Amino acid sequence: MTPDLEQPAAGWLARFEQALREPGEAALHALFRENSHWRDVLALTWDIRTHSGADALLPDLRRGAARARPTNFRIDHARTPPRTVKRAGTETLEAIFTFETDIGRGNGVLRLDPEGRAWTLLTALASIKGHEERIGKARPKGESYSRDFRGPNWLDQREAAARYDNHDPVVLVVGGGHAGLSIAARLTQLGVDTLIVDRWARIGDNWRRRYHALTLHNQVQVNHLPYLPFPPNFPTYIPKDKLASWFEAYVEAMELNYWTGTELEGGEYDEDAGRWRVALRRADGTRREMRPRHVVLATSVSGIPVMPELPGLREFRGTVLHSSRYDDGERWHGKRALVIGTGNSGHDIAQDLHAAGAAVTLVQRNPTLITNIEPSAQLAYALYDEGPPTEDCDLITVSVPLPLLRKAHQMHTARAREIDRPLLEALERIGFKLAYGEDGTGWQFLYLNRGGGYYFNVGCSDLVAEGRIGLAQFSDFDTFVGDGARLRDGRLLPADLVVLATGYHGPQALVRKLFGEAIAGRVGSVWGFGEDQELRNMFRRTPQPGLWLIAGSFAQCRIYSKYLALQILADELGMLPERRAALEADAA
Ligand SMILES: Cc1cc2nc3c(=O)[nH]c(=O)nc-3n(C[C@H](O)[C@H](O)[C@H](O)COP(=O)(O)OP(=O)(O)OC[C@H]3O[C@@H](n4cnc5c(N)ncnc54)[C@H](O)[C@@H]3O)c2cc1C
Repeated sequence: MTPDLEQPAAGWLARFEQALREPGEAALHALFRENSHWRDVLALTWDIRTHSGADALLPDLRRGAARARPTNFRIDHARTPPRTVKRAGTETLEAIFTFETDIGRGNGVLRLDPEGRAWTLLTALASIKGHEERIGKARPKGESYSRDFRGPNWLDQREAAARYDNHDPVVLVVGGGHAGLSIAARLTQLGVDTLIVDRWARIGDNWRRRYHALTLHNQVQVNHLPYLPFPPNFPTYIPKDKLASWFEAYVEAMELNYWTGTELEGGEYDEDAGRWRVALRRADGTRREMRPRHVVLATSVSGIPVMPELPGLREFRGTVLHSSRYDDGERWHGKRALVIGTGNSGHDIAQDLHAAGAAVTLVQRNPTLITNIEPSAQLAYALYDEGPPTEDCDLITVSVPLPLLRKAHQMHTARAREIDRPLLEALERIGFKLAYGEDGTGWQFLYLNRGGGYYFNVGCSDLVAEGRIGLAQFSDFDTFVGDGARLRDGRLLPADLVVLATGYHGPQALVRKLFGEAIAGRVGSVWGFGEDQELRNMFRRTPQPGLWLIAGSFAQCRIYSKYLALQILADELGMLPERRAALEADAA
């Protein structure tokens, strides 16, 4: 501990607690600089929201504090001690602290400027008193299966719980990728009965079925699932089949209820009962109706494939595949392929086809951000290399308000552009159109706003720059014809295969398909930042009672599954203010 760094942070927290108790605004105001940010994650407002600017945030902070009555703000000596760091290019004193509210325990991150005023403040709910996770000292004692030697043992109980013969789960999680696993693990540890359903036959098939050479794109230390980090011998970039097997082990170890080969066909919400009525189709063709109180869609940002109506494509006599249906290049050896779209999928599929001995042309429709996978694409994750444990990095990640995040990513993008200059110039020379994201915020914001529009170069860009994979601009296309595509200048690009790496309709389209127009309309847009500086309808209450969504990177799902699970638990405990009341209050 460095006392001269602890003292200013501890002093600020003490003055803050005092100022919250005092009626006037002056003491509280003096603690914040003008362009400060307060992000609350459930602790004071039961919402996830960033409030910016001292004048605007203080009334909200006071209202939240009056409701939740936070006390006992202390530097958390069990975590990374206060330290001086650079965030978004600015040096700041950063301190992790704890506090309590009437109903829960919280933690947060404070950043002070050189004058000792708050630049950013995070208040986040960590647990609900009396309903803590059943881990560590609170782990189950197992008396229900170990005392009665004639009764059901642990395995009997596990199997019975997962069969759902005589009851329905409280929460149905649709999709058993990492998003589904993360939220199911969190809910299970909180004692909320949860079932995952996934349409694939085997846990991990969502990765196993992807192309042959796939490894994860960011490094292992960023990608741990909740509670159970990857073993230390795991490779830096985890291969898809290894990841798929880890998912199976994770489900077993975390005692998650998981029905494979089970598709959610659709459902409706029974307002009076406060429950869903959902239809599940199982692999053997049987159907099961369930009435869970909550449905969590963990069906990914990439919902339904976009199949654009390209001119003349119906005339093409070869094979047309959406990228989601592409699995292996082997059968295209010696054949000619056009891959339409220059995001990650397009590039990876082009490289896979090239490696399998196909003659490939990549067809660019829009300017695309290109960044080398190392070191450039990893710049955004420097926090996770600094040394603090994952849990502290996660809290620090949550504490960064959107304006700072944008600035940080503008800096990473500018730096990556410098590092990758030789590659980018080579691509420009052959006519590849480059992009750097909105206001230069780079790939992270392309992902968060659009779910794509970039490529992490693992070699395909080099092949394109060297001319070993062809490049064409879609704007030069006239029409597809029986044996390929005709360009405006009359040339023919012959093809046996056309891959449409044309992306996906966002999650709202899936909400519409599963639950109908009324619910989709009520929920509105999903993903991308809303006016409140948060991702729309993600990880928090949606306007549709009982409907929740989780998606994003491994890190996002690990981090925000905690808060999503706390909200569902709070709803079960009757603690969440009525959604409608909350909306009315917002509008007032
Ligand atoms: C090549 C590649 C590399 C990537 N590398 C990384 C990385 O390094 N780090 C990172 O964080 N992210 C990475 N991603 C991005 C992202 O994490 C993955 O796309 C990931 O698969 C998304 O996980 P998910 O759980 O949200 O959705 P998915 O993995 O797509 O899982 C959704 C599941 O929902 C099921 N489902 C959908 N509808 C229904 C229904 N009606 N009924 C039943 N089941 C249904 C599907 O069968 C599927 O298994 C990468 C993506 C790709 C393509």
